[in-house]
Amino acid sequence: MGSIFRAVIIGAPGSGKGTVSSRIKSIFGLKHLSSGDLLRSQIMKGSEVGQEAKKYIDEGHLVPNHVMIELILKELEEIGPPGYLLDGFPRTQYQAEILNDEHLIDAALCLHVPFDEIVSRIKDRWLHLPSGRIYNLSFNPPKVPGRDDVTGEELVQRDDDKPESVLKRLEVYAANTRPVVDFYRQKGTLIEFHGRETNKIWPHVEKFLESVIPPQSQKNES
Ligand code: AMP
Repeated sequence: MGSIFRAVIIGAPGSGKGTVSSRIKSIFGLKHLSSGDLLRSQIMKGSEVGQEAKKYIDEGHLVPNHVMIELILKELEEIGPPGYLLDGFPRTQYQAEILNDEHLIDAALCLHVPFDEIVSRIKDRWLHLPSGRIYNLSFNPPKVPGRDDVTGEELVQRDDDKPESVLKRLEVYAANTRPVVDFYRQKGTLIEFHGRETNKIWPHVEKFLESVIPPQSQKNES
């Protein structure tokens, strides 16, 4: 049995956290465990936890700590080397304390992308509503401005992708995340990565993980 590396990834919506997580998963073999995905799968299954959680999620509230903690701890028990990358959990200081008491986190990887960068990425996002096709004016523009490539129909922008909505979302995110970030900072396990582009942040994440995950555990495949 090799050793287990236990991490959490923290990053705003639009920070590139999804891309970084999937690279970590494919290069280092860490199991990526997203609390939101876990809850959605419990809801799909119609389990007792799922039914309980759905009430809160539908109302836009956090699922109560005790429900979340029980669910996550059960999942973590099953995971062996090289370890895991938690995403979306812990979301409260209490959840962070429980994980800490159980010695279940070695490092918190925190991605810092300036908010103006995220706003400008998201504000360029346009959608073809009937198909769900997404375009981005800077790196994946439609062939004809404002029109879907396949049907030629009009593209729209989601209200919550407009700059003022994105900024509001980011401010709420920062306020909610601060206690968890502060918690790991105090524990000395917060590893911070700053940058405007995922491809510039990534080499630093990779270098850090290479220093803590034994090479024999790393898998170089997706
Ligand atoms: P997400 O996909 O991470 O945005 O999660 C979707 C929803 O699941 C959130 O809006 C919360 O209601 C709930 N949720 C996810 N993770 C947690 C957590 N760690 N603690 C409490 N509720 C959570």
